[in-house]
Amino acid sequence: MTSRTPLAAVVREREVLSEHLLRLVLDAPEGLATTGVPDEWLALTVPGQFQTRYYTVRSLADGVLTLDVVVHEQGLVTEWAQTDCVGQSVGLSAPKGSFLLPLDAGWVVLAGDLTALPAMGRIAQTLAESNLPLTIHAEVPDAPLHDYVPAPVEWHHAESGTSELAAIVRDLEWPEGPGYFWMGGESAQMRDIRRHLRHDLGRDTRHYDVMGYWSGSRGRQARRVDPGPIYAAGRAAGKSDDEIWADYDEARNA
Ligand SMILES: Cc1cc2nc3c(=O)[nH]c(=O)nc-3n(C[C@H](O)[C@H](O)[C@H](O)COP(=O)(O)OP(=O)(O)OC[C@H]3O[C@@H](n4cnc5c(N)ncnc54)[C@H](O)[C@@H]3O)c2cc1C
Repeated sequence: MTSRTPLAAVVREREVLSEHLLRLVLDAPEGLATTGVPDEWLALTVPGQFQTRYYTVRSLADGVLTLDVVVHEQGLVTEWAQTDCVGQSVGLSAPKGSFLLPLDAGWVVLAGDLTALPAMGRIAQTLAESNLPLTIHAEVPDAPLHDYVPAPVEWHHAESGTSELAAIVRDLEWPEGPGYFWMGGESAQMRDIRRHLRHDLGRDTRHYDVMGYWSGSRGRQARRVDPGPIYAAGRAAGKSDDEIWADYDEARNA
């Protein structure tokens, strides 16, 4: 078996958390280990499919894996998760994470839509022992999920199919001094916010992690762009990986 071979796991429970959020509890396969990074995610392959979708590890302990799945209007996992999937076997990749708090961070701000709520919940849980001031902005289509995140949340209501997340972040009053900003949501809005952080606010890429979780324009094929020359040019210009991948993202969507 290679590290790319999916691990098989069986769904043990399925619970409705809100109109758009389902919880799946799975038997964690032997060999599935947490990285300990609080925004860690894995690739999920549902029965009869070969395409994967990414899901945050809401928790993984004592042989039990919990994933919280947002139900969209349509979608491969969306449709499967609404069936009686208990007892079915799925494929999982090894988890990976990217949340990396710099040593000089004096505060943490999180922002995201419902798909980022599992990660924000776990990040908040991880930071609970620290004395770092934490601010969370969550944009959700349902009523606030008050007990979901173990920290105060500023809830923003998203009308069906719309998101103001980028505007919310652009209007933020940032705490003083160096800190860490983590965000997940629709890719075009995440690109906008990366530009804002870099160009308008002059933030160092060590101090933020802004991740495109899903694409609102998937109906339109992304352009084929060879990442090689972009990576080489970015490296030559002294850019970080984050900046280079943002450039690549931009080129594909131009
Ligand atoms: C690192 C990472 C972690 C993630 N963690 C989670 C998680 O814990 N829980 C979770 O639910 N999702 C999470 N996501 C997002 C999830 O992978 C995508 O939303 C995925 O596209 C959903 O798959 P699907 O098969 O249901 O829909 P797809 O078949 O991928 O998409 C079908 C249609 O739905 C639209 N769509 C997809 N996502 C959304 C959305 N969020 N809002 C509105 N329309 C949408 C697409 O544009 C497309 O038109 C994560 C993504 C990443 C990159």
